[in-house]
Amino acid sequence: MHYSALKVLWQGLTGNKGWTEVWREPDPKPEYDIVIVGGGGHGLATAYYLAKEFGELNVAVLEKGWIGSGNIGRNTTIIRSNYLLPGNQPFYEFSLTLWEGLEQDFNYNAMVSQRGIINLIHSDAQRDAYARRGNSMRISGADAVLLDRRKVREMCPFLDFENGRFPIQGGLWQPRAGTVRHDAVAWGFARGADSRGVDIIQNCEVTGFQIENGVCRGVETTRGVIRAGKVAVCVAGSSSRVMAQAGMRLPIESHVLQAFVSEGLKPVIPGVVTFGAGHFYISQSDKGGLVFGGDIDGYNSYAQRGNLPVVEDVCEGGMAIMPMIGRARLLRMWGGVMDMSMDGSPFIDRTHIDGLYFNGGWCYGGFKATPASGYCYAHLLATGRPHETAQAMRLDRFITGAAIDERGAGAQPNLH
Ligand SMILES: Cc1cc2nc3c(=O)[nH]c(=O)nc-3n(C[C@H](O)[C@H](O)[C@H](O)COP(=O)(O)OP(=O)(O)OC[C@H]3O[C@@H](n4cnc5c(N)ncnc54)[C@H](O)[C@@H]3O)c2cc1C
Repeated sequence: MHYSALKVLWQGLTGNKGWTEVWREPDPKPEYDIVIVGGGGHGLATAYYLAKEFGELNVAVLEKGWIGSGNIGRNTTIIRSNYLLPGNQPFYEFSLTLWEGLEQDFNYNAMVSQRGIINLIHSDAQRDAYARRGNSMRISGADAVLLDRRKVREMCPFLDFENGRFPIQGGLWQPRAGTVRHDAVAWGFARGADSRGVDIIQNCEVTGFQIENGVCRGVETTRGVIRAGKVAVCVAGSSSRVMAQAGMRLPIESHVLQAFVSEGLKPVIPGVVTFGAGHFYISQSDKGGLVFGGDIDGYNSYAQRGNLPVVEDVCEGGMAIMPMIGRARLLRMWGGVMDMSMDGSPFIDRTHIDGLYFNGGWCYGGFKATPASGYCYAHLLATGRPHETAQAMRLDRFITGAAIDERGAGAQPNLH
């Protein structure tokens, strides 16, 4: 079914009885050309681009829960491409350009809202670092504007510019950044893939791999064995556990990240604002809730819920830049399991086992990457070659010394 404003009007006038299911509920077939493990944003986007761009139609996505139950439905919805390093920047800029045409492309309203992001500057050294990052962004075709304190005050008068410890001296602004309704992204990609013939199979957990003479020939699942020409894993926070079933140990740790939403308030935050002297970021949803978050919880966990010390830490970050947040009531909070890599950057690569591919290590930045991750993974699966923007995202980069350490923080997930 094609969605349009006219269709909404017509359905409204005729009792909304004509809507069809957004995707089918097929039983798994015994064999596919490509089986994708994980029905999160990245798995669904991979299936969508495999079918749409590369003509791969005999594809299944296996999801252990339901579509949208993982991090794709738990994140704080920020999209941006304000990266520094050449291994990352062109990839995230590619993703941002895909976001810009996405809703028309898959005919689904994902509420892509490019209201901009401001990274606040609190010291001279930080201004130098942000100027460098802005220049790197512009070299790869992204937009970046260095703001002085007066301009930031014009855009965000509610900030505490005179804070004794962290006075605000300016900001790095990316006007094309913004937010997107996260679960609509999963539904839109699922709809687009399904309508091209991809089987999306929910409640189907992968419990093992069929590896014969060093070649992956399929997967074992809670709904039986499914044979496959290629198996593409993208299970985000479950990466280490799933790849352990193939005997692989990854340079990834799983950590909890929490998100918070306040009661609905009148519009106050123009786009996304990030604190530069700690970890705190905030935007405002269309319903008026302040959506914010900060650091990971700091210990390894597979629980989709967090603990209280980080709540205090995040709220302290908020109070440092906008004390008025202390008057807002917290409405809800939740956690998601992050696949934190050792250099803070992701992997889109084949493994040492023929026919087995891996996509993961997205840390807390994988939502913005969803379209490009799907496109580049599909490119690798269909052509056997990495996409030009994802060539550095290799699994062997720690052996070759080619780590993509965006923050320069070293092998410490909590610092990325
Ligand atoms: C609180 C929070 C805030 C965040 N904020 C942002 C942000 O503002 N911007 C940003 O860019 N990123 C953000 N992220 C990160 C982003 O959400 C993730 O990096 C991204 O969603 C991960 O990719 P995914 O969508 O494919 O993951 P998921 O949706 O987690 O998909 C993985 C899927 O694999 C399934 N799975 C696991 N094991 C198996 C198995 N054995 N068999 C079959 N299926 C399996 C899971 O059920 C899950 O559905 C945030 C994350 C969290 C938790």
